[in-house]
Amino acid sequence: MHLIDTHAHLYSEQFDADLSEVIERAAQNGVQRILLPNVDSNSTERLWNVVNAYPERCFPMMGIHPCSVNESIAAELRHVETELAKGKYIAVGEIGIDLFWDKTYIKEQIAAFEQQMEWAKELNLPIALHCRDSFDEIFASVEKVQDGGLRGVLHCFTGNEAQAKRTIDLGLHIGLGGVLTFKNSGVADAVKNVPMEKILLETDSPYLAPTPFRGKRNESAYTKLVAEKLAEVKEISIEEIASITTANAERLFNL
Ligand SMILES: [Zn+2]
Repeated sequence: MHLIDTHAHLYSEQFDADLSEVIERAAQNGVQRILLPNVDSNSTERLWNVVNAYPERCFPMMGIHPCSVNESIAAELRHVETELAKGKYIAVGEIGIDLFWDKTYIKEQIAAFEQQMEWAKELNLPIALHCRDSFDEIFASVEKVQDGGLRGVLHCFTGNEAQAKRTIDLGLHIGLGGVLTFKNSGVADAVKNVPMEKILLETDSPYLAPTPFRGKRNESAYTKLVAEKLAEVKEISIEEIASITTANAERLFNL
């Protein structure tokens, strides 16, 4: 079985002590490849340390996370633009809008999100999208930028069935992680009718560990638990889940 964790922050300090074991456990659970979204200019060096240590397994994205958008957004965007010009990234991410923590910079969040989507189109790269309490704003921005040339994944999908359908209609994939396994999250029902060709698996490590590890540190090996849950939801085998979602990720990210 071959799985891809399409979203993991393995460069987090939470993995400093045992990263090699985390990567090894992932491989033992079928997760041979792991995609690493950037957060902001402070995480880029750590991200590259991991990619350089595991070049066959870990692949870098570049972008500024909406929670890192503040008064220094201009310098952060210059950093992203400079890094993307190096041509070494598989995607623009993670980018998006987060209105859960703080709405102070909502205007700047939207502007930075739309700018980074434009760069993704210019460079023909997919986007990895972060959406928290912001479906309406995300959909409005994507609709503005989408001209058929934008592709990507709405990572850590937590919406309802209508929002899943809208995501697909806008030309995006749906990234499923630990929340799918949470009782009463509603995500299983929301994605029941989403075509398998539009689904990717992820962990968002170190956050949002799936059941039965909910609340603990998440790691890429647990992608398998998400695959198992999705197999149950879709009533197909885990082998099929693995082969379809892996093919989806290879196609979307040009792996
Ligand atoms: Zn993330």
